[in-house]
Amino acid sequence: MLQNIRVVLVNTSHPGNIGGAARAMKNMGLSRLVLVGPRIFPSAEADARASGATDILENAQVVATLEEALIGCSLVFGTSARDRRIPWPLLDPRESGVKVVEEAGRGAEIALVFGREDSGLTNDELQRCHYHVHIPSDPDFSSLNLATAVQVLSYEVRMSWLAAVGQPSKVEKHEVASTRSEELATMDEMERFYGHLEQTLVAIDFLDPEKPRHLMARLRRLYGRSSVSRAEMNILRGILTETEKAARGELLKRKDQ
Ligand code: SAH
Repeated sequence: MLQNIRVVLVNTSHPGNIGGAARAMKNMGLSRLVLVGPRIFPSAEADARASGATDILENAQVVATLEEALIGCSLVFGTSARDRRIPWPLLDPRESGVKVVEEAGRGAEIALVFGREDSGLTNDELQRCHYHVHIPSDPDFSSLNLATAVQVLSYEVRMSWLAAVGQPSKVEKHEVASTRSEELATMDEMERFYGHLEQTLVAIDFLDPEKPRHLMARLRRLYGRSSVSRAEMNILRGILTETEKAARGELLKRKDQ
């Protein structure tokens, strides 16, 4: 179950933090680290700070974009040092730990995403996440060290996992649920859907690319809340294709007149 969980670090500047994050993960039984464009990696400093968790660094996947880091994921948590950076479903680390273990138990691939030391995650990156997680630190000094933030979230995942495996009935319930419930659409499938949706909304003149008015962000938030399954996604894509066809037909008719 824990192997379904990946920790994603975006554009980390200090290699020591990558090592610290690897150590924090290994202590809590997590193993999958994905690095999006790290400034310096691999490095002796990361190895030193990992102090024994070097296997996690050796197996870390290095990718160029957040989109690549999230391929195959159906549930994404984005962490932020600021409470309510943008209006989005917000959880504390404990609630996230419970949700992560529930969904990982049903076979979902999950990502915990952490931002840059100096500027965190961008709004665009945060909008790719289903939930935002804020560690309720003192608002006057809210930003934790990156590896420390990874520690807090990994700890909550572990506590929730220990509670779940300590109660077999709960785990069984998850397994039963997974055979009944439909498979969720992955992030890459959702990204292709958002691309198609935007294209269709422009085609029917609902979205003006000159004045987008946060429409796509709002729609991402709406669909992100809905746990869209793969079968539902196919219905939505079908509707978009037919809408585009109907809009093209309408245009041709207007031209004929
Ligand atoms: N100045 C940045 C701070 C980034 S700290 C900002 O305003 O966003 C680096 C990363 O550590 C953050 O992107 C986040 O992933 C994590 N982090 C730090 N403090 C956190 C907190 N209180 N809650 C959740 N994540 C936090």
